[in-house]
Amino acid sequence: MLIFRQLFDPQSSTYTYLLGDAVSGEALLIDPVFEHVRRDTALLRELGLDLVATVDTHVHADHVTGAWLLKTGSGSRIMLSEASAAVNADRLLKHGDQVSFGSRHLDVRATPGHTSGCLTLVLDDQRMAFTGDSLLIRGCGRTDFQQGSPGLLYRSVQEQILSLPSDCLLYPGHDYRGLTVTSVAEEKRFNPRLGGDVNESDFAGYMNHLGLPHPRLMDIAVPANLRCGQPDQAASMPQDPSWAPLTCSFSGVWEIQPAALEERIAGGRANDIQIIDVREPAEFSDALGHIPGARLLPLSQLAAHSADIDKARPIVTVCRSGARSAQATVLLQKSGFSLVANLAGGMLRWRAEALPFEQGTN
Ligand code: FE
Repeated sequence: MLIFRQLFDPQSSTYTYLLGDAVSGEALLIDPVFEHVRRDTALLRELGLDLVATVDTHVHADHVTGAWLLKTGSGSRIMLSEASAAVNADRLLKHGDQVSFGSRHLDVRATPGHTSGCLTLVLDDQRMAFTGDSLLIRGCGRTDFQQGSPGLLYRSVQEQILSLPSDCLLYPGHDYRGLTVTSVAEEKRFNPRLGGDVNESDFAGYMNHLGLPHPRLMDIAVPANLRCGQPDQAASMPQDPSWAPLTCSFSGVWEIQPAALEERIAGGRANDIQIIDVREPAEFSDALGHIPGARLLPLSQLAAHSADIDKARPIVTVCRSGARSAQATVLLQKSGFSLVANLAGGMLRWRAEALPFEQGTN
């Protein structure tokens, strides 16, 4: 079974695609975005997938790729076109290559014209293709910089993309209106630049008169992408919290696992962590019990009492299942607390893992 997700970066309107093979657990990311590496890593973890490679469809001018950062965290191989002239890649792709993930693969097609190194990635059964900026929904990438060429793009799209089966779904590298997917048949008929009876000179006339300003981030993004997204200085690396081994969920909440919290408590470093139990008083003293040293502060009273909480010490929030305490981390962050994590699975998981607890009131 194929696992497929379409992810979005609202800053640059870029789509990132996750493709996974459910049997082997191997996955690819197409066009990951540097600022979303944490999100994408969380999704891979929650879906139980191993990232084997990232593939960039081209050297982007409007965002920095997450390829290098994902490799540092996941060991994934960096792949992009040989024609891109980028450094730090593990595999330089050529027309006709295959990129495998488990028992599935993508076929690589060279579709230059937006840039000289543009690739279109076609799923093995030709039911889906990832066109980067070569073909957008009712549009296409610009051809006025990065070795762009209207003639080349016209031929690439006609010969390598619109020649696919008519029901093949096409997933673009961007969409500025929130449209998500199209098909070969639709673009052949309705693409105003490349569909219908448009010929190469009609297309060149259209493309040479777009009059677009250069992308805002071009001077930052292109050099960074020629390094596959390696930052030019360590300062621009996203910093993860270091006060405990935390993971960020796809929903965006920092979590600590029960065993990791217990290790901190047992290691005598409990004093530096504030455990805040956000259940109601009756739950705090019932049979499920609470973590020794936890402070009872029901979710409904959290905002009103946030001034009583030490901002300098890390906070772990706890509830029955981990749901209310996840919301508590959101409220605390809104109130200016930065060192906050949710106890994953709450008291239910804590007890299931046979960790120490107390009953009664404190
Ligand atoms: Fe582009």
